[in-house]
Amino acid sequence: MELQFKLKAYFKTGADPAPAKEAVTALFEEANNTLLTRGAPEGQGAKITEWKLGEDRIELVLESGRYVRVHDAVLRLKKVLVEALGKRYRIGIRGIEVESFIIQVPAERELRMLKVPYIKSMENIEGGIVLELEVGEAEMKNRVPDRILTLLEEKIDAARYGAKAEHWNLIWQREPMEHPFKEDPTQAMMKEGWLKRGASRGQWIHGPQSTKVFRTFEKIVFEELLEPLGYREMIFPKLVPWEVWMKSGHAKGVYPEIYYVCPPKTRDPEYWEDVADYYKVTHEVPTKLIKDKIGEPIGGMCYAQCPPFWMYVTGETLPNDGIPVKVFDRSGTSHRYESGGIHGIERVDEFHRIEIVWIGTKEEVIKCAEELHERYMHIFNEILDIEWRKAKVTPWFMAQEGLLGLAEGNVVGTTDYEACLPYRGENGEWLEFQNVSINGDKYPKGFNVKLQSGEELWSGCSGVGLERWAAVFLAQKGLDPESWPEEFRKRVGELPEGIRFL
Ligand code: ATP
Ligand code: ZN
Ligand code: MG
Repeated sequence: MELQFKLKAYFKTGADPAPAKEAVTALFEEANNTLLTRGAPEGQGAKITEWKLGEDRIELVLESGRYVRVHDAVLRLKKVLVEALGKRYRIGIRGIEVESFIIQVPAERELRMLKVPYIKSMENIEGGIVLELEVGEAEMKNRVPDRILTLLEEKIDAARYGAKAEHWNLIWQREPMEHPFKEDPTQAMMKEGWLKRGASRGQWIHGPQSTKVFRTFEKIVFEELLEPLGYREMIFPKLVPWEVWMKSGHAKGVYPEIYYVCPPKTRDPEYWEDVADYYKVTHEVPTKLIKDKIGEPIGGMCYAQCPPFWMYVTGETLPNDGIPVKVFDRSGTSHRYESGGIHGIERVDEFHRIEIVWIGTKEEVIKCAEELHERYMHIFNEILDIEWRKAKVTPWFMAQEGLLGLAEGNVVGTTDYEACLPYRGENGEWLEFQNVSINGDKYPKGFNVKLQSGEELWSGCSGVGLERWAAVFLAQKGLDPESWPEEFRKRVGELPEGIRFL
């Protein structure tokens, strides 16, 4: 099956178009060979396959493939018709009315019905999918059919690629090490009184001991990496409105994992009085009632940490001597609604991360990433002394956007840092504990940031997950400072005493 568009529509005319029949015939014949093929490979333009005149309309059927699509074709035709009929025949074109708009898309698998505006019906047939759209002239002008086709093709690709498939390519691996400690570090920490479960899902309260370990990680990152490489600290917002996720691209798919934020409809105490009173009497918080009194979600809590930073530079032009911009944030928590296995600190709903962001020319961005990789290598080999590896990963959506990490010479993509967790056994799954990403021009484009010289801007980011570092370090080294590497012990100093209970 081939991709095919078919549009049945008519031009509404201000008068009977009969006197212009010959002119229309000539114009449509000509258009099939010129106007409707412009920009398409030989023989692949749009075509008027049928047409006839009515009393107050010119009806036509247009067919096309991928190139000059029927909605473009019909708009091109309108322009020339207005010219041709207006001047000589004084017949005005009032607009385009769509009778049917059908797209046929090749696909190997059946897809679920898309629930989006403008789709009238969707049918899985042998070898593909048939969509009927409900669009008018305005939607065709706004390229709605193109967006629907893109969406559908993304879904077809995703189905082919597999649900959470990522390309995974090993880049570097440290030689295997002995790990005498074999416990699950979260369980061990609970036993030793280092932390407790928080009241919320996937949340922990860190006691003085694990807090000291986290702060030592931060200190190491700061002293060994951020400071020598000249990164400046900033404070990024932690409540992220839709506008930011629309620009960063997260609005395309972050929904299952975000914690939503809804403001009160008003801050008038009277409006909330019944909620407070209900609680006072029943000692239950009336969540249904609250739900009625809050507004729609304005966004969510920090998910990826760097997107809200970009509002600082959006719409701006950076001076040539002001790049690379190198900054980091460690000002607050990130929140994700994780599924299933949130038993330990390695996968939690509330976590702590240092996010490092850099912006510059392509060459600068690549260089910054290389410098980070070098420094991380030093930290994990010489200071934490853990067994770890690096892999280039490309999620399917990047692969599909043509940013495929496997393509020769392509530098855009993510490098995951992973470590083994001895308690999971020889063949246990390794844990991603941080990453370094080169994001190409995605963010500067999305947030409209320019460079004085006009050269293209790129960016990168790296997320240092403190829970993940702790999970990895403590899983491999245990909780006893005596068995920690000397370089780490030097930096952590004395562990504080924990809070004791009877
Ligand atoms: P995973 O595949 O393990 O869920 P991810 O691909 O979702 O990880 P990213 O979105 O790349 O992770 O996030 C960057 C970093 O943030 C991770 O390397 C990790 O250090 C940290 N991180 C992400 N999700 C969590 C979580 N639920 N708990 C703790 N840290 C996390
Ligand atoms: Zn980021
Ligand atoms: Mg995840």
